[in-house]
Amino acid sequence: MIDRLVVASKNPDKIAEVEQVLAGLGLVREIVRGLEWPDVAETELTLVGNALLKARAVQSATGLTAVADDTGLEVDALGGEPGVHTARYAGPDATYSDNVTKLLEEMEGVKRRSARFKTAVALVDEHGKELTVEGVVEGEITTERRGEGGFGYDPIFSVGGRTFAEMGPDEKHRISHRALALRALAAALATDPGRR
Ligand code: IMP
Repeated sequence: MIDRLVVASKNPDKIAEVEQVLAGLGLVREIVRGLEWPDVAETELTLVGNALLKARAVQSATGLTAVADDTGLEVDALGGEPGVHTARYAGPDATYSDNVTKLLEEMEGVKRRSARFKTAVALVDEHGKELTVEGVVEGEITTERRGEGGFGYDPIFSVGGRTFAEMGPDEKHRISHRALALRALAAALATDPGRR
């Protein structure tokens, strides 16, 4: 059990999801909110690399165990893009809606719509110990937005015929890339002899 943990993100949607999933895993006694740290540039070329950058920086700024997530959407017909560029696909100041519009445009008329969300989660504790895990969910890019829930690309990413935005949070957390990665983290911590 981790005593006090900080979620190394400034994205309220992501923080909410990480907190909801962690709450169901019984992994953490207290999630500490409201702390400040300098922005961390995501300069690595991999999701794992960027998750580690963020977790290390926030651990060192706060002194607490930090968990960070870096997520990418890989679209097969686009050769794996947007991938590590997922957050800024439509440009440096792109909104969720700008990114969704750009992806729908790129995929206009494309028949092969398979895609996957990948999340790398990194944990860095107060002793500098590091752990990384990944979660992947396979799905398809829809031809139009569907649903009101979730965030980011959720309205156009469908699994089993429904988009993440059409699912409630509990349903998304049963299958999502982020939830799978956090469950893998819990499993890795459970088998870590230094932590039992
Ligand atoms: P990052 O991990 O903060 O770099 O986010 C990558 C991009 O993926 C951002 O544009 C997010 O909006 C998007 N994203 C991350 N997680 C999800 C998700 O669970 N559903 C839909 N979009 C997501």
